[in-house]
Amino acid sequence: MKKELGNLLELQDIDLRIRKLDEEIAQGYGDLDGRQAVIDARRAEAVDLGERLEVVEKEKSDVETELEDEIVRLKDRQTKLMNVQTNREYQSLLKEIEGTKSENKRREEEIVRYTEIGEAMVAKIQELNNTSDAEEALLAKEKNKVAALAKELEQKKAEIDKARSEKAGKVVGTIYKRYEQLRERRNGMAIVGVTNGVCQGCFMNIPAQQFNDVLRGDQLLSCPTCQRMMYHKPADEE
Ligand SMILES: [Zn+2]
Repeated sequence: MKKELGNLLELQDIDLRIRKLDEEIAQGYGDLDGRQAVIDARRAEAVDLGERLEVVEKEKSDVETELEDEIVRLKDRQTKLMNVQTNREYQSLLKEIEGTKSENKRREEEIVRYTEIGEAMVAKIQELNNTSDAEEALLAKEKNKVAALAKELEQKKAEIDKARSEKAGKVVGTIYKRYEQLRERRNGMAIVGVTNGVCQGCFMNIPAQQFNDVLRGDQLLSCPTCQRMMYHKPADEE
């Protein structure tokens, strides 16, 4: 049983190393994904702004068309003004002309305002896209680095995997099965030490009789609380 325990502990040690490598690889790619998401959000903001710019430009163009039409009508009225017969007609036409002139002034101001808003939007879109381009270039370099590192880690993992299958082959089938189930359910820790009667997996006390059995080490016992397999781990090893 001592030998069995030793094999299991070594196997678990290998598995924890593999797990750490997997986490390192995932972390590298995770960071890249996070940065890509920021870039994507900025690109989306630029697209959104572009759509709003179209609306502003359409509004501006509508006012421009309106202004052109009104300028033509103004000229018509001014021509008419020279041919009116009555004073009343003259006054009324004059009033219309003044009204149109003031409306056109408002339209001109509106066009200036739309132009300013549009220009600010174009500048902002440009800025967003430039930033995204620069970040994407940086990210591309970073991706190469992460891929190179991942390759290195994968190679390391492949070596460890070889050692793992050798070690796993030495563990009795039923125990191996139990080990794998626990490993999955208990966050990679299938076998844990018991120190001073306390399971180091769940930190609960185990019954005194069971602790004595663990101390003797001639059978593979499971913690009554977390079900992990147990071995005796003296306090001074801590
Ligand atoms: Zn436990």
